Amino acid sequence: MGKITGFMEFQRLSEAAEAPKSRIGHYREFVVTLKDDEAKQQGARCMDCGIPFCQTGCPINNIIPDWNDLVFRGNYRQALDTLHSTNNFPEFTGRVCPAPCEAACTLNINNDAVGIKSIEHFIVDKGWEEGWIAPQVASTKTGKKVAVVGSGPAGLAAAQQLARVGHAVTVFEKSSRIGGLLRYGIPDFKMEKSHIDRRVAQMQDEGVVFRTGVMITDAKLPVGVGNDATETISPAALQAEFDAVVLAGGAEHPRDLPVPGRELSGVHYAMEFLPLQNKVNAGDKIDVISAKGKHVVVIGGGDTGSDCVGTSNRHGAASVTQFELMPQPPEKENKPMVWPNWPLKMRTSSSHEEGASRDWSVTTKALVGKDGKVTGLKAARVEWKDGKMTEVPGSEWEMKADLVLLAMGFVHPVAGVLEAFGVERDHRGNAKAHTDEGHAQGAPMAYETNVAKVFAAGDMRRGQSLVVWAIREGRQCARAVDAFLMGSSTLPR
Ligand SMILES: Cc1cc2nc3c(=O)[nH]c(=O)nc-3n(C[C@H](O)[C@H](O)[C@H](O)COP(=O)(O)OP(=O)(O)OC[C@H]3O[C@@H](n4cnc5c(N)ncnc54)[C@H](O)[C@@H]3O)c2cc1C
Ligand code: SF4
Repeated sequence: MGKITGFMEFQRLSEAAEAPKSRIGHYREFVVTLKDDEAKQQGARCMDCGIPFCQTGCPINNIIPDWNDLVFRGNYRQALDTLHSTNNFPEFTGRVCPAPCEAACTLNINNDAVGIKSIEHFIVDKGWEEGWIAPQVASTKTGKKVAVVGSGPAGLAAAQQLARVGHAVTVFEKSSRIGGLLRYGIPDFKMEKSHIDRRVAQMQDEGVVFRTGVMITDAKLPVGVGNDATETISPAALQAEFDAVVLAGGAEHPRDLPVPGRELSGVHYAMEFLPLQNKVNAGDKIDVISAKGKHVVVIGGGDTGSDCVGTSNRHGAASVTQFELMPQPPEKENKPMVWPNWPLKMRTSSSHEEGASRDWSVTTKALVGKDGKVTGLKAARVEWKDGKMTEVPGSEWEMKADLVLLAMGFVHPVAGVLEAFGVERDHRGNAKAHTDEGHAQGAPMAYETNVAKVFAAGDMRRGQSLVVWAIREGRQCARAVDAFLMGSSTLPR
């Protein structure tokens, strides 16, 4: 423990950010990493708890008290090594993770949690700045070949771990660039894409081969699922060429809004809207779905909806409204009831700070239009009792809307891809595979599907989730694949 009285002496310090008014004029990141002395002081707030709840709250079990102490002492290099021992890509989580570790921090019971995410952000940025992050090339090769389908955080984590123990890994991606939702869903203002490019270069030096624009299977994709592929490869061909296959294709099938008027132009899935802006930011000469001068209604109150709000404001929307079907959560959680678990409470994202009118307990009854174009929306208030929703009689209203963005989440992975492999699905439509390493003799290994040598990880296995969970699954799946290929594995869980 760095400073025994640190948590009593120092207040939590949030990272500085450019003011909303100026940052909506561009798409760059606007959060400023802590300075050295600030990071040291924030590290000093950690109490080095006997039971570090932060670590169990973190899906990848980051060894948080250790790197807090190392930062306090100015030993940044060792802090980076400790951070990397559980997380392949701390610069992704240090920017976009909702930080369940902080909700679980002991200091969060009666004070402000340790600023764990900002310290993580500081450590990894320092590592890149100092040139400490280098390829870790396997000293011996196994001669085994692994195919990874999908290049989101799950596929990338699996590929990096497998390459580092000497397997020949090829990542197949149907989009023209690597990164999955990190690249095309999450906007640049939350995470600039140079962070992905740097890791891709590192992984190429470690021997990973990336093949973009290649779709595995010729499965028909639902509307709203992006595809830049110019080549398809069948599951059979992949299984014949590789010793193991990791399916990490995400949960791309979007939830639709089956109401009258859905077919009108100007009604789009979030994942039709957001990728276009990310592609333009990357230099592609294409048209975006523009929110400029429009009254935008975003349906869905989660991260995706919030990204639509931020992007619409940057386009110069006339107004942005966001609706959520669920009731408004409480401003603050009841800590004795929920700590150390993730609390349900009002969350105001940086995009909300930039300007949006938000409303809860709202259902969309119809989309209305003229000459085939959406012009408005009919909504009504709902009430929730014992988990059941009823519409409030007479509460219907109509409002102007000339761009409606559907951000109601994702139902499951694209069914056709799993079907083409013959992979069984669970009751939610995700690839069926357990995560328990202590399997019985002869039973499927962790992350192994019902199909021989085919594994599944990330959103494709667990359903829509978080970047940090995708990294966890990619890492654990890599260990299972390594054990499958070699009989045992030295990769960490
Ligand atoms: C708009 C948006 C914002 C989000 N913001 C956050 C956030 O702030 N913080 C957070 O923690 N989480 C966030 N999430 C969730 C997070 O991005 C996902 O949980 C995570 O990316 C899942 O990782 P994955 O690797 O499993 O899949 P994905 O990132 O979805 O990657 C899957 C990849 O597989 C490719 N693929 C699929 N099928 C095939 C095939 N047959 N052949 C070839 N390629 C294929 C896809 O093109 C895609 O690139 C957000 C999600 C969205 C949609
Ligand atoms: S729970 Fe909070 S105070 Fe305790 S070790 Fe973790 S970060 Fe430090």
